[in-house]
Amino acid sequence: MFRIGQGYDVHQLREGLPMWLCGVRVESPVGFVAHSDGDVAIHALCDALLGALALGDIGHLFPDTSAEFAGIDSKILLARVIEKVRACGWDLVNADITIALQAPKIARYVPAMRECLSSVCGVALDAISVKATTTERLGFVGRGEGCEVWAVALLERE
Ligand code: MG
Repeated sequence: MFRIGQGYDVHQLREGLPMWLCGVRVESPVGFVAHSDGDVAIHALCDALLGALALGDIGHLFPDTSAEFAGIDSKILLARVIEKVRACGWDLVNADITIALQAPKIARYVPAMRECLSSVCGVALDAISVKATTTERLGFVGRGEGCEVWAVALLERE
């Protein structure tokens, strides 16, 4: 038995803030405006995992009004979501993430990103795909105002 889920998230970019993507610190003059560490890719992945089991979304699970989650490392949120998935009797088969960001170029970080997510999720490296694209300078991503991420996750009954 299988379940599929999709997740989507956007964060605004601002100068002088840290940029975390897929649990990896990216060298960048701009970073994400957020209540947590702003790891927009992990947030999309969490929503894909939760979506597969109709468990709501991360905003519902970890409210941005709660001081407990202020500045929190999103890897902790992902670990909690994976725990929840396993507690429900499901396992992650694979996940595929697409990051749309105009700058900086993040291709060189992709191996570390996959490594990090596979370790937090407790799955093989080849079960995690991370892809990066620009939007050819079109839209809010193209103007460097924000970053957009889509994720899909397939779950299998344990
Ligand atoms: Mg978010």
